[in-house]
Amino acid sequence: MTATAHVEACLAQIAARDGEVAAFLHVDAAGARQRAAWLDARADGSAPLHGLTIAVKDNIAVAGQPLTAGSRMLAGYVPARDATVVTRLLAAGAVLIGKTNLDEFGMGSSTELSGFAPTRNPLDLARVPGGSSGGSAAAIAADMAWAALGTDTGGSIRQPAAFCGLAGLKPTYGRVSRSGVVAYASSLDQVGPLAKTVRDVARVYAVLAGHDALDATSAVQPVQPVQWRDDLAGLRVGVAREHLDDAVGLDSQIQARIHAALDALRARGAVLVPISLPHTRHGIAAYYLVATAEASANLSRYDGLRYGARAPNPATLDALYTHSRAASLGREVQRRILLGTFALSAGFQDAFYQKACRVRRKIAEDFQTAWRSCDVLLGPTSPVPPWLLGQMTADPLAMYLMDAFTVGPSLAGLPALSVPVGVDAQQLPIGAQLVGQPFQEAMILAVGDVLQRAFAPEAT
Ligand code: GLN
Repeated sequence: MTATAHVEACLAQIAARDGEVAAFLHVDAAGARQRAAWLDARADGSAPLHGLTIAVKDNIAVAGQPLTAGSRMLAGYVPARDATVVTRLLAAGAVLIGKTNLDEFGMGSSTELSGFAPTRNPLDLARVPGGSSGGSAAAIAADMAWAALGTDTGGSIRQPAAFCGLAGLKPTYGRVSRSGVVAYASSLDQVGPLAKTVRDVARVYAVLAGHDALDATSAVQPVQPVQWRDDLAGLRVGVAREHLDDAVGLDSQIQARIHAALDALRARGAVLVPISLPHTRHGIAAYYLVATAEASANLSRYDGLRYGARAPNPATLDALYTHSRAASLGREVQRRILLGTFALSAGFQDAFYQKACRVRRKIAEDFQTAWRSCDVLLGPTSPVPPWLLGQMTADPLAMYLMDAFTVGPSLAGLPALSVPVGVDAQQLPIGAQLVGQPFQEAMILAVGDVLQRAFAPEAT
């Protein structure tokens, strides 16, 4: 297949389905066609992502294309340069097809909190695609792109991957450059790929990973190549009781499916090791304090002067700030700025932010203890299947609780991969989360590939 034929097939899917799915905020049809034609005519086809279409979450800069981060605050902004991850994709021969929808600034778990329109799950249009990288996941599930970039602060790659029947990798904190990515919570944010198979995720990951001098938090460790395997002889798979049999609010079909996944790993030679992550139940509280505190600092730049939409005719400087922010930031973003500002304020910082940082350290220590007896961890990605649009929006806390299994690895900075492991009785996809030791992406990708092929032998 030529790059042009592949691009035309994706554009045809966008034309046919994106009116109802709303995966994209911006489609660069002309740019994608032009690049595909250039690749077909000039390139020798040897680049690792030659001619493959990639959709980019709209909090990642692509030069010359609008960037909104899902917020009306940034409407009309067009970045002048590419994020480092985009530079790497282009150098690897990829074709960028467009910018995908997200919860405003990445704050949400359903893509209903986009400042523009909610994205729908292409597998069931009444349901959410997950979030905040819901547009990226929906674009792949509807065959509008081969793969996509997402960002993950507390689950935003893994959970939409699970909700749309895809694989999605959140790399180790610092593994992938964030230069040119809109900051949400800087001690947690990571960029990573989503695709239909673990092998495709690995192909994009290999292009993205590695040190970048433009990102001060970028890690210098060498990137390990993946050794694909067929058996898992001797692999020790940790099973945390707090993520499975003692988990609060875990759907029974998902629980059964994760047990089936564990059986599949054991059948291929893995040894299951029961472990405990005793601070799991404090994860949501710690995450939503750390993330909102950092968000309140990061989002202070959108003041209508330095960055962001400016309210017309303010009477005073203070009025300019408050009117600009009140007019252009959504309710959930405002709630989080208020929460985070409160958690950092004089007199409350010790009780809230500092305490959350201490809990975060305890959660990281839980994982360090687990690594003494196991090589990877396996559990559910989400406690529930994709919910109906509108079902959760009235109760922000209920939606926060849906991140119960993904925030722990984020707080600990660990790599984590969601792998599709089948469907429930309503044909809704179920994802399993594999968590690895720092910089052991190659390990969880190899195990995830074995796991995916155990349920979908064609997924190579
Ligand atoms: N749902 C979580 C939040 O709203 C995680 C989002 C993300 O990873 N960007 O913060």
